[in-house]
Amino acid sequence: MILQRTIQNEVSTVGVGLHTGEKVKIILCPASEGHGVVFQRDDITGQPKITVNPQAVTETKLCSTLGTKDFSIATVEHLMSALSATGVDNILVRLDGSEIPIMDGSAISFIHLIKSAVIIEQTKEKEFVVINDVIEIVDGDKFARFEPYKGFLVDFTIDFPHPAFKSNDSQVSIDFFKDSYIDEISRARTFGFMQEVEYLRSNGLARGGSLENAIVLDEYKILNEDGLRYKDEFVRHKILDAIGDLYILGYPIIGKFIAHKSGHDLNNRLLRELIKNRDKWKVTSLSIDDIDRHNLSSFLKINEELNRSTQKNLQ
Ligand SMILES: [Zn+2]
Repeated sequence: MILQRTIQNEVSTVGVGLHTGEKVKIILCPASEGHGVVFQRDDITGQPKITVNPQAVTETKLCSTLGTKDFSIATVEHLMSALSATGVDNILVRLDGSEIPIMDGSAISFIHLIKSAVIIEQTKEKEFVVINDVIEIVDGDKFARFEPYKGFLVDFTIDFPHPAFKSNDSQVSIDFFKDSYIDEISRARTFGFMQEVEYLRSNGLARGGSLENAIVLDEYKILNEDGLRYKDEFVRHKILDAIGDLYILGYPIIGKFIAHKSGHDLNNRLLRELIKNRDKWKVTSLSIDDIDRHNLSSFLKINEELNRSTQKNLQ
């Protein structure tokens, strides 16, 4: 059987929140089977916790925020993306602020942090959500859709009327059976437009944003001196975000995710639509043989892949 996973050791790091600009300490802790991904605010009396689920998403404007009426945790998507890609089912994420640190704007720091904690298998079966029928949300010219598929494939298209966004680099399709999350997605950074950044700052947001943790564009060009990490880094970051947003479901998905101009809002609405349509998917555990039968992704071979990629990055 494919088993649930957690981390072996507690690990921590410190960074700033993209929006709050606050310095935050984040601690990843091992958790028991069936625990799920849980966030905890250490800086609030009673240390309130929240388990990821689509209904816990309270805000999707600039990032995905989880919360209740009493507390919130912003910008969970990049960490969630790294947890999804490393196949971690059970973990307690403690933090002493209201926002997950942005690190370098991608997921690679979280991948390294999780790896340093050592991913271990537990004894209970891992459960997957298998998509059996089309589930879709359409909003004007945007859409997000699940379709049945043997494996996990993400197909994303963006469309920004900006000279730095070349039309041939606006669509990417990644089949995670063949393609590696670490190589193809993990280093893609978040991006923002200078005019927007100025507006956000005047509203007390994007305080932690800089060329160190985001690709910043003015009206004509990319302002980062070193340019892009992938020629189509923007759409790859949207895939990174989507993988994180979808993992808020609490289960890895077996199916195809197709999105056109989607974002945190549409990604979350699609999960809520999935929950409403209980006849269009099932929860199942899988045997090791199913890895090939379902074209299961690199996400399940991650230890091997992590070692290879980490070595490559260190060279
Ligand atoms: Zn993002």
